[in-house]
Amino acid sequence: MVEDIGWTRTHCARMDHGGCALLVGVKDNRIVKVKGDPDGFLNRGYVCPKGLISPEKLHHPDRLKHPLRRRGKRGEGEWERISWSEAIDEISRRFLEIRESSDARGVAFCQGMPKGLEHFMLIRLANIFGSPNVVAAQDVCHAPREVSGIHTCGFYPVVDFHHRSDLVVLWGSNVTETNEEGVIGSLLMDQVKQGTRLMVVDSRKTPLAERAEIWLQPRPGSDHALALAFLHVVVEEGLYDREFVERWTHGFGKMAEHVRGYSPEFMTDVTWVPSDLIRKAARFYAVSHPSAIQWGNPLEQQENNFHAARALVALMAICGNLDVPGGNIQPREPPVLGLGKFVRADLIPSKRKEMIHAHHRTIPRLMTVPPAYFREAVLDGFPYSVRGAYMQCTNPLITWADSKMTYDALRKLDFLVVSELFMTPTAALADMVLPVATQFEFNDLGHYGLGHGIVLARPKLVDPPPECWSDMKILNELGKAMTSPEYWYENEDAIVESVLEPSGFGWEAFVEKGYLKGEENFRKYEPEGFRTPTGKVELVLSTAEKFGLPPLPVAEILQEKGNADYPLVLTGAKSPNYLHSSYRWLQGLRKKEPEPVTRIHPDTAAELGIDEGTDVEIETAHGKIVQKARLTRKIHPKVVYASYGWWFPEDEGVETSGWKKANFNMLTTVDTLGKEFGTPNLKGIPCRIRPFSG
Ligand code: SF4
Repeated sequence: MVEDIGWTRTHCARMDHGGCALLVGVKDNRIVKVKGDPDGFLNRGYVCPKGLISPEKLHHPDRLKHPLRRRGKRGEGEWERISWSEAIDEISRRFLEIRESSDARGVAFCQGMPKGLEHFMLIRLANIFGSPNVVAAQDVCHAPREVSGIHTCGFYPVVDFHHRSDLVVLWGSNVTETNEEGVIGSLLMDQVKQGTRLMVVDSRKTPLAERAEIWLQPRPGSDHALALAFLHVVVEEGLYDREFVERWTHGFGKMAEHVRGYSPEFMTDVTWVPSDLIRKAARFYAVSHPSAIQWGNPLEQQENNFHAARALVALMAICGNLDVPGGNIQPREPPVLGLGKFVRADLIPSKRKEMIHAHHRTIPRLMTVPPAYFREAVLDGFPYSVRGAYMQCTNPLITWADSKMTYDALRKLDFLVVSELFMTPTAALADMVLPVATQFEFNDLGHYGLGHGIVLARPKLVDPPPECWSDMKILNELGKAMTSPEYWYENEDAIVESVLEPSGFGWEAFVEKGYLKGEENFRKYEPEGFRTPTGKVELVLSTAEKFGLPPLPVAEILQEKGNADYPLVLTGAKSPNYLHSSYRWLQGLRKKEPEPVTRIHPDTAAELGIDEGTDVEIETAHGKIVQKARLTRKIHPKVVYASYGWWFPEDEGVETSGWKKANFNMLTTVDTLGKEFGTPNLKGIPCRIRPFSG
C-alpha cells in the first residue's frame, strides 16, 4: 500500500561520487522505492539507473555478513567466521607487531574512490598510528588537476554550473553519463536549454558531442599537446584578457615565447585534430565570456598530466575565466571542521618527507602514495619495506595499472585486511575480510573534502545486517584498539556531529536542510592575491627550481609510439552502469551490461575480420585479454576502446573469478611513470586485436 511507505530525503552515495538528492520510500525497514528529488541542489530531480537500482545491493544473497579470517592458503577461498572483537584484536595485534618490528611506515592504509567520511577517518587512523602512507589512485584521478591547480593559481579550479556560462567546454568529461565529483549533467542541460553553447573535446562522439557547436576528436593521451596549441592561438592572435594578464599573471612573456613552438599545424600530427579546427576552437573559447572548462579525469590518466593540467589552467587564466561566475571557480567551503584538523595532520609533521613517494621526488602536496610506488615498497623494499595493508572501498587487483604486479604485491604482504560488501578478487587474497554497512544504512556526510564547496546530508534510512559495520565505525574501533583511545569517538554519530560542529548545525538540523554550502563570492584574488609565492597565476612556476618541476608546460614527452606490431591505439572506457570494478554482481545492472565490450570502428573491424559480437583478443606489449566486439562509427578508426573494471563474480575463487581474462589492467604497465604524480599511461597504448580463436 502506497500509504504505508515513509518518504525520506537523502543523497545518493557509493554508486559513484554521489550527489543526487533522492526521495527514498521505506517500508518495514526496507527500501521499496527511489526517485529523484526535484529540489536537489545538484540534480534537480534527475536520478540515473545506478541510483534507482542502488537498494538492490542491500539484500543481495551473497553480501558479506560476518567478519572472516583466512583458514587455508592465501586465495584458496577457505574462511572461518569470527566475531568482531576477535577481528579487531587480531588486526591491531598484527599491525602493532609490524610497527614494533620495523616502524609504522611498514603499514599502509589504502582507499579506493572516496565515498564519504570513511576516507578521512582512514587518514586519521594512519596519522594517529604514525604511518604516512595512505595509498590511493589519485595519480590517475583528481590529484593532477588539484595539485597542478594549486601550484599554478593557488586553488583547484572547478566548473561553475550554478551560474550561466556563454560556453561550456567538456574536456574529456561526459557529464550526462558519469559523475565527476558531483558534477552531474542536470545543471548543464538546464543551461543548454537557455542558450549556453557547448564545445566537446573527446575521442568519442558522445551524445553531448553531437549537440556541441564544435567537437574535437584528439588522439587519446594528447590533451597536453592540444591545450598548448590552444594557448598558441590565443596568445598569437592577442585574444587574451590583457588587463587580467598584466595585473594577475607571472611569466606571461616567457610563456608567450614558449608556446610559439606549439602551433596547431605542428600539433596536428600529435593530436590528430586538423589545425584549422584547433584554431576555430581556441578562438571560440577565448571570445566567449564567461567560459567554463569541465575537465574530466582522462587527461590525468597519462604521464603528461602535469603539463595538460598546467596548460588548461593557464588557458582559463589568460582568457579571464578564473573565479568568475560561470567560469572555473574556487568555491568557499561551508564552515565545517577543516580537513587538517579532522585527520589530525598535526600528529605527523614529518609526513611529507616520510611518505613512500617522497623518495621518488614527486610533486609537493601530493599526499597519497601512488599505487606503483606502494607495490614497489612491498615487492622490493624501496625506499623501505611495507608488510601490512588495510584496504577499504577498493579492489586494486582490477583497478590499478598492471594487475600482475598487484597480484604479486598482495600475495607478498604479511598481513592484508579488506573491508568490503562482497567477496571481490582483492578480498579473496586477504587474511581478513570485514563486512561493511553501505549507503542508506548509516549517517554520513557527502562531498566533504572534494573541493566543490558543499557537504551533503546522507541520513541512515534502514538498519544494516546485524554484523555489518560502517567503515567509519570499523576505523573508530580499530583506532581505539591500536592507538590511544582519547583520539576516538564514542560512536559513528559523534563523528558526523564533530565535523558539523563549527557550522552550528546539529545532525537533525543539517538533515532537515539537506546540504551546507560555502559563502558565494568571486574574484577573491582581487583583495587577497592568488595563493602562490608571487601572488599571481604562475604561468611560469616560480618554484620550479626549488621543487625540480618544469617551469612551463611542454609536449615533449609523447605517448608510447605505435609500431608495426601494435598499430592501433588502445584506451579504456568506464561504464555508466558500474563504478570502476564494483557491482558486476547486481543483476539489475548486469542485465543492462552483461559482458565487457571493446568498441572498434567498423572499417577497422572489416579489415581484421571482426564482426559485431565476435570475441576479440586485445594485446599490448604487456598482456592479452578477451572481450566482445562492438562496432561503432563514433570512434576513430585507429582507436580501440576496451571496457575497464571487469571481473566475473559468478566464477568462484580468486584464481577463477576472471580477474585476468577481461581485465583492462592486464594490458597496462607501470614501467614508465609520469614524474610529478607517478602516473602510468592508461591512454594511448599501442595494441593489436584479432578474432579470439580460443
Ligand atoms: S548520477 Fe551518481 S549520484 Fe546521481 S543517481 Fe546516479 S549514481 Fe547516484
